[in-house]
Amino acid sequence: MPDHKHRILVVEDEASILLGLKENLEVAGYEVLTATDGPSALKLGVEARPALILLDVMLPGMSGYEVCRKLREQGLQMAIVMLTARQEEFDKLHGFEMGADDYVTKPFSVGELLARVKAILLRGGRQQAGPRVYEFDVFLLDLEERVLKKKGPGSRVQGSGKKMQRARDAGPVIAAEGDRWEEIVLTRTEFDLLAYFCANEGKALSRERLMNDVWGTGYFGTQRSLDSFVASLRSKIEKKPGEPTHILTVHGVGYKFVGKEEQRT
Ligand code: CA
Repeated sequence: MPDHKHRILVVEDEASILLGLKENLEVAGYEVLTATDGPSALKLGVEARPALILLDVMLPGMSGYEVCRKLREQGLQMAIVMLTARQEEFDKLHGFEMGADDYVTKPFSVGELLARVKAILLRGGRQQAGPRVYEFDVFLLDLEERVLKKKGPGSRVQGSGKKMQRARDAGPVIAAEGDRWEEIVLTRTEFDLLAYFCANEGKALSRERLMNDVWGTGYFGTQRSLDSFVASLRSKIEKKPGEPTHILTVHGVGYKFVGKEEQRT
């Protein structure tokens, strides 16, 4: 049972689906907001800060992909689940690149959708014991603020004094005066996956275990989705995503995370 009402934004231009989702989610105890086109979905997403958005792909005004991308550009971290009609052939990689966490194909069963909504909200709300900051290579993963920062001399970087201060306060100090920090934008699922890798550094993790522990048992996705998230994470933290030195493939098993490149065997 949720100890507070999670707010969910449902974006769907088909009135019967919208109404059905709203009613079922309300019965399940959620506070539900609705929008029927892209621009108003974006506005509500920014202003009402829902914990989760169920986002139709084909919408008047602006596509669901576009809404998703714009929300992520503003640094918003809510869970986003894309709703796609079977004939639209949801482009999984594109959707995940735009920052979606998951997707369901219409027509879907209400039971399946509710299970997935519950799983994804639980995942976000889970508080785990252990370090709140992980350092590896030139990165700092801050679990409190849910940000990944990259230390570097890069000139693209906008290192603000405020961010540096926060990094110092967070625990282990890898920041020094003059360091510049670049914030690497991760989707909610990428963040959860990376945090899980960091917490289990050096262990060979099976795909089954990763999917169960990171996505939760309510997850109905395939192992291909996991691979898509790993590919996307590699593109953000590996110098050469094709020759990873942090998220290593363990053939026949799954993946292993190593923080330091020299640990590679
Ligand atoms: Ca539609």
